[in-house]
Parts: sequence; C-alpha cells; structure tokens
Amino acid sequence: MMGAVAGAELHQDLRNAVRDLCGGFPDSYWRELDAARAYPETFVKALTDAGYLAALIPEEFGGSGLGVTEASIILEEINRSGGNAGACHAQMYTMGTLLRHGSAAQKRAFLPKIATGELRLQAFGVTEPTTGSDTTQLKTMATRTGDRYVVRGQKVFISRVEYSDLLLLVVRTTPIDQVKKRSDGLSILLVDLRQAIGHGLTVRPIRTMMNHATTELFFDDLEVPVDALVGDEGRGFRYLLDGLNAERILIAAECIGDGRWFIDRASRYAKERIVFNRPIGQNQGVQFPLARAHVNIEAADLMRFRAAELFDHGEPCGSEANMAKLLAADASWEAANVAIQTHGGFGFAEDYDIERKFRETRLYQVAPISTNLILAYVAEHVLGLPRSY
Ligand SMILES: Cc1cc2nc3c(=O)[nH]c(=O)nc-3n(C[C@H](O)[C@H](O)[C@H](O)COP(=O)(O)OP(=O)(O)OC[C@H]3O[C@@H](n4cnc5c(N)ncnc54)[C@H](O)[C@@H]3O)c2cc1C
Repeated sequence: MMGAVAGAELHQDLRNAVRDLCGGFPDSYWRELDAARAYPETFVKALTDAGYLAALIPEEFGGSGLGVTEASIILEEINRSGGNAGACHAQMYTMGTLLRHGSAAQKRAFLPKIATGELRLQAFGVTEPTTGSDTTQLKTMATRTGDRYVVRGQKVFISRVEYSDLLLLVVRTTPIDQVKKRSDGLSILLVDLRQAIGHGLTVRPIRTMMNHATTELFFDDLEVPVDALVGDEGRGFRYLLDGLNAERILIAAECIGDGRWFIDRASRYAKERIVFNRPIGQNQGVQFPLARAHVNIEAADLMRFRAAELFDHGEPCGSEANMAKLLAADASWEAANVAIQTHGGFGFAEDYDIERKFRETRLYQVAPISTNLILAYVAEHVLGLPRSY
C-alpha cells in the first residue's frame, strides 16, 4: 500500500483496489450470512490479508501508516459494495487508543500481530445496561490487588467479542463518589479475551434486527494483569474522547457508502421498472426523492472529508466529526427509505438486498452515538447553549 498523506489519485487507486476485493463478495454472500446471522469470516480475512485493516498502524509496526481519510475510504467502499463494514470497523478506531496512549511494550507486543492478522482487536466495551449514553456513570469496577485488577460488572451491546482476541474495556478504577469530576477515575484495560472468557468473563450473544455480532458481557471477578492498563490509571475518559472523533468520521464514511449504494440501486431500478408504460423514474414523484437523497449524501460527504482532513492534521475536529456522523447517518437513512419506496413491494423481498441494507444502516441513528446526543453536543459546544443533561 502507500505512504502517509495520499493525494486524490492515490485515493482513487485505493478505492479501486478495495472495490476489486469487495467484488469477490457479492450480494449473495452477505445475504446468506444475514439469514444465518453468521460472521463474514472469509471477507474479514481477505481484508486483513490485503493489509486494509492495518491501514492506521504505523509502518514501523507492520501497518501502512495511512490516515483516517484513507481508512474512511476503505470502509466507505465496503458498504458501497453492498457489504457491511460493521463486522470489522472497530479495529480501525480502537487502534488509535493503543497507538496514542499505549506503552512502548504494549505497542511492540500487539501492533505487529494486529497488522498481520495474528491477533484481532475488534471489540470495544463501553456501554452498560443501566447507564447507556451517560458514559461517565458506568459501573464496571476494576479494583487493583497486587499485580492484578479484579473486574466486576456488566456491559451490553459489545460487538465482535466472539471474533476478536482483544477487548479495549472501559472501567471505573476510582469510585465516582471519590473523584472531583465525574469523568475522572475511568481507565482503559486491554483484555486478552482468549484468557478471560470462561475465567471470570461470560459472553452472551444478543440477536438483533441485522447481522451484527453483538453480545452482553458479565465480569465476575475477572483477573487482568496490571500491565493491561493503557496509559495512566484514571485518565481513560480522555483517551476515550480522543478515539471517538475517528470513530464518528469512519462511521460517517460507512453511511456515505450505504447511501451511494441505495441511490445506485434505486436509480437503476427506476430506469428499468416499467409501470403505466413508462419507467417509474420518469415520474417526478419517484425521481425527486432520489435526487434529494443524492444531494444530501454529497453534502454529508464534504463534511466527512473536512473532519477527516482536520483529524489527520492533528487539528481539533470534535464538532466536524459529530456533524459528519449526523449528516451522513441521516442521509443514508433517507436514501434507504427512498430506495425501499422506489422498489415498491420488491424493496421488502430479501433477494433484492434493499431491506437488508435498510436494517443495517438504521443502526447509525443510535450507535455508536445517538442523534440526540450529537445535537446536544453541537448545542452546548458549538452554540454555547446550556448543557441539557
Ligand atoms: C448493534 C449494536 C452494536 C453496538 N456495539 C457497541 C460496541 O461494540 N461497544 C459499545 O460500547 N457499545 C455498543 N453499542 C451501544 C451503543 O453505543 C448504544 O446503544 C448507544 O450509545 C445508546 O445507548 P443506549 O442504547 O443505552 O440508549 P440510551 O442512552 O438509553 O438512550 C435511549 C434514547 O434516549 C435518548 N436520550 C438519552 N439521553 C438523552 C438526553 N439527555 N437528551 C436527549 N435524548 C436522550 C437517546 O438519544 C436514545 O434515542 C451497540 C449498540 C447496538 C444496537
């Protein structure tokens, strides 16, 4: 692959190469996995072997040292091909936490193996059943005893745990009533799932409306060595925030990919489907919603690239990353609705894949951050309005 900051031509080459790879995984591949709620093992292996999941790992650790801009192009193309990057996207954004805050020993031990695919870092554990979006209130507690942390608590909707070797786990190390600020006292542990499962960690799959390997986690005095701590104890919330902007930009790109896929499919169908002796796409009632959805995808894409550019230059990008995620998730959802409407009854038939992608893209109104929480961020941090929660 290529070096650090890539130009438009290299971006196009990257797009073409990912498109080629995705071409080997047609609609039927994703459709069958969806029906079986199965993990796209072959696809993730192909993506790993081609080096794409190591895009953000620096070259010295065996990755390609690319930026979030390029990583976002990779994920966009997966979704644009009709696939679902949700099966593997977390490796891209969890990586940053290890890269920015991990010790030299942790980076040496894990990054080269993640780059080759020998180890997968696909799981990121934040959400808890009783506290949800109110992250600083999370209750999973890691208590230090000698050279170990003992972890007790519960997480919910933690994805890809069954297909990952490592889990970045957010825990409380100082009880909330003993900290000055509620965001203090949180820490991040890099948990080796191969040792943890069955020895204090129980994983229970949650079946959802789309094929997304998500689970509930129960920590029952799980022992984790202290050298699993990433960065300093108690500063985990700050590390978490650092990674969230990358996550938002990458998810925005997936939504853009979805949106383009919906519009391509629906436009094609609108040209081919003849009713009342003419293509349905000749009716303004059919073409205008498609045109509007396209406009909104393109606008969201500009914000996605703006946010990615700021991120890659090390500039603050919190508002742009949040706005990109909101615009792109709204635009992909609009495009999904238009695509189903354009297909009439066939939009609901599994063989057309519209209903599958419709279910998949709906997630991004809620996860990894819900629309309301983004609006609350913009209201407070951009417009200076009083904090509403
Ligand atoms: C398929 C799937 C995969 C996931 N994968 C992961 C994962 O890998 N790791 C992980 O940590 N988490 C994961 N999540 C969790 C996801 O990040 C949360 O579902 C999301 O952050 C919302 O939290 P919640 O579900 O607890 O909703 P809640 O926080 O209970 O919110 C419910 C609703 O109330 C609204 N709301 C809440 N508070 C306010 C407020 N103050 N103002 C206005 N509206 C408000 C929200 O916008 C939302 O619409 C996943 C979720 C799903 C569904």
